[in-house]
Amino acid sequence: MRPSELLIPTPAGLYCPLADIHIDPVRPVARALITHGHSDHARAGHGAVLATRETLAIMALRYGEGFTQSRQEAVPGAMTSIGPVDFRFVPAGHVLGSSQIVVESKGLRIVVSGDYKRERDPTCAGFEPVSCDVFITEATFGLPVFHHPPADAEVAKLLESVRLFPERTHIVGAYSLGKAQRVMALIREAGYERPIHIHGALETLTAFYASQGAPVGETRLVSASDRKALAGEIVICPPSSIQDLWARKFPDPVTAFASGWMRIRARARQRGVELPLIVSDHADWSDLQATIRETGAGEIWVTHGEADALVHWCGTIGLNAKPLHLVGYGDESDVETTSETVDAAQL
Ligand SMILES: [Zn+2]
Ligand SMILES: [Zn+2]
Repeated sequence: MRPSELLIPTPAGLYCPLADIHIDPVRPVARALITHGHSDHARAGHGAVLATRETLAIMALRYGEGFTQSRQEAVPGAMTSIGPVDFRFVPAGHVLGSSQIVVESKGLRIVVSGDYKRERDPTCAGFEPVSCDVFITEATFGLPVFHHPPADAEVAKLLESVRLFPERTHIVGAYSLGKAQRVMALIREAGYERPIHIHGALETLTAFYASQGAPVGETRLVSASDRKALAGEIVICPPSSIQDLWARKFPDPVTAFASGWMRIRARARQRGVELPLIVSDHADWSDLQATIRETGAGEIWVTHGEADALVHWCGTIGLNAKPLHLVGYGDESDVETTSETVDAAQL
């Protein structure tokens, strides 16, 4: 069997005709397998969803219990057969519940990475490489300029600034699913024990992470009235809120943003970020390369992000590679800005 018979890129997303399922479809389909809960990958309105327990829970929190007509839990590592195709969910290390999906039939194995990272994350299971014939990878940071320093060193910069400026509130923008909770856990690992103050838009997901054992420590919801009293404290909010009027109500705020994009100084300046923290939940350029090599795949398909440079690099080491040009995936900030802005305005 040829790989293109097992998985086909379509406008709705990757489609497996032998099992009649889509992976991370961007429009409503009959049956969907979902790699993780970020809103560009996990959408509401499918007939049936197969995903990990955590991803199903995250979808229910974000969209309501009616996000799909029927749901089935995928146990990591266990095989689910649909027609002649075997599917297996394997941890991707991206956010809580995130998985790669292994698609196998008649001796041909394709691994769909979803989004992934290789750096340790105290809030989710680590990426497990799976050998395969075809590896389908994301390439969010697929350019040589993207090198992520150790996340704990970036968080140390935040805590040093808090120590140096005890009269200022440190406001950290971080995506509401995954990044915010990872930053909190890293702050705890560094020994910071004071309550961490959170924006209302982070409340539900942070409570879910805590219920699943993520070491986020004591968190307190920021109310409109007590912002003036938070001098010297750490506040975590969605990225869109750091530029809002909401952020200006704190005492002499220092604005920070935890993102792989903070490698690009112009991005930080453009967002008015005083303290850029390069903390990413995606593989950087060298981890993309290392992972591709580790899978042993002879063929690489690139779904979204900076596909061209990665495809070119694959060619230079003798791998067959192509961009899939799947649309609808990308940085969660683009998808979430509207609802987060609304949430912020209500506070
Ligand atoms: Zn993601
Ligand atoms: Zn993505």
